[in-house]
Amino acid sequence: MGQLFIDGAWTSAVDGGRREIRSPADGSLVAEVDEAGAKDTEKAIAAARRAFDDARWSSVPAAQRGDLLLRVADLLQRDRDRIARAETRDTGKRVAESEIDVDDVTNCFRWFGHLAAADDGRLVETGIPTARSKVVHEPVGVCGLITPWNYPLLQTAWKVAPALGAGCSFVLKPSELTPHTAIILVELLAEAGVPDGVANLVLGAGASAGAPLSSHPDVDMVSFTGGLVTGRRIMESASATVKKVALELGGKNPFVLFADADHETAVDNALTAIFLHSGQVCSAGARLVVEESAHDRIVDDLVERAQRIRLGGPDDPDTETGPLISAAHREKVEAYVAAGVAEGAVLRCGGERPTDERLANGYYYPPTILDHCNQDMSVVHDESFGPVLTVETFTDLDDAVRIANDTEYGLAGAVFSADHGTCEEVAARLRHGTIWINDFGPYVPAAEWGGFGHSGVGRELGRAGLAEYQEPKHIWTNTRPGPTGWFPSSTSR
Ligand code: NAD
Repeated sequence: MGQLFIDGAWTSAVDGGRREIRSPADGSLVAEVDEAGAKDTEKAIAAARRAFDDARWSSVPAAQRGDLLLRVADLLQRDRDRIARAETRDTGKRVAESEIDVDDVTNCFRWFGHLAAADDGRLVETGIPTARSKVVHEPVGVCGLITPWNYPLLQTAWKVAPALGAGCSFVLKPSELTPHTAIILVELLAEAGVPDGVANLVLGAGASAGAPLSSHPDVDMVSFTGGLVTGRRIMESASATVKKVALELGGKNPFVLFADADHETAVDNALTAIFLHSGQVCSAGARLVVEESAHDRIVDDLVERAQRIRLGGPDDPDTETGPLISAAHREKVEAYVAAGVAEGAVLRCGGERPTDERLANGYYYPPTILDHCNQDMSVVHDESFGPVLTVETFTDLDDAVRIANDTEYGLAGAVFSADHGTCEEVAARLRHGTIWINDFGPYVPAAEWGGFGHSGVGRELGRAGLAEYQEPKHIWTNTRPGPTGWFPSSTSR
């Protein structure tokens, strides 16, 4: 375990590179894995290209491709425990959370299995009795799939399942911090019968192992989930070869709370929205936008409850949320909080590393609330990707919508109110890819996921999630061919 998977075989990195994977919960060594460089990724791209060009997968009927995805779903459930444990070792999240992730991944494979099997193009009305027109869906080709560390297997599944369903071949590069569930997934794909060369895996750093996936001429599409800065770089690099680009980037997601909402429900949801997985969620409800009259009671209760959330590693049964992914990430979150305080935000809780001996070797950071924020502060606009909630207030519905939409991102948002009309109006006016009404967080594989603005390009999941990996092709047939007669003077005599 821990090697690259290229052309149907487990293989070592050509330069012999290795990387230690350490648990963010306590710094212990999880495993050593191979560290690919650009040469390995080029080998993997060549294998994916050969597999695509000889049509060993794209020529398999869509129904059979769909069946294979359903088989993978069964294998994921068979191996649920070992996959969840592997995810927990890499990320430090609780096993119960990793188990939910495996179930979500299974549902994703099931969704795309059924969708791919049913996908057979469509006939189009031409309006001409002697012409037939149909649109078929062909695979885009060789895909570079680049994924982050926060939901390692889940973000991978959202790309791998539709890419395979569409008939593409791919090179997957998971986050260098959390490679293990991608390794297991590739094992299961091979077991389920994915032909050699169709599914390739390279492990390693973005700048070396990842970069060729956006620049190489033999890659037809790059699908990336990660940070905005990396996303921009990938888009720029992909432009030279005019690749298709799909980007799932960050978010700065508003939680709009009206004073008439049920108090307990709202506080509990706001707390979960930001502090779940220690805020390392692209759709985290990081901006509380609360009606002025409810501010004091809501924020006092949030502060009181946030301070009681129990941090810990996955082996501690009392743990409610885990560590940040790395020392570097914790430093980034600390700098973000310091910037907020310097700009005039009021630190209501958290903001300092825990001193508890039990947490000394992990990258823990406590639930943190910055009150009295406004639109001029960097903390209101920049993603922290950590357990930090900013609080702003609004006076009326228009004000709430204005504040909630005042972000370059546009991934997700929520509105809480007892008034259904208020909820519907706010939902209609928010410029975000997912809106929750009196709820926060749920998604279903049948509904598209993705963002407006700087949150990305394209959609994952839903029907559009499969379409990302397809090229629609129009085939026109003239059933009674004859001369056009367009240039009568050129007609031969
Ligand atoms: P990141 O951008 O640092 O890295 C993401 C992936 O890109 C990693 O695999 C990394 O190795 C790779 N990478 C880095 N530089 C590269 C390059 N030049 N070429 C190719 N690949 C490169 O992001 P991260 O820190 O792993 O993840 C956190 C970010 O991901 C957050 O901003 C979060 O909001 C976002 N995210 C978004 C969604 C979504 O659905 N919109 C989901 C999860 C995470």
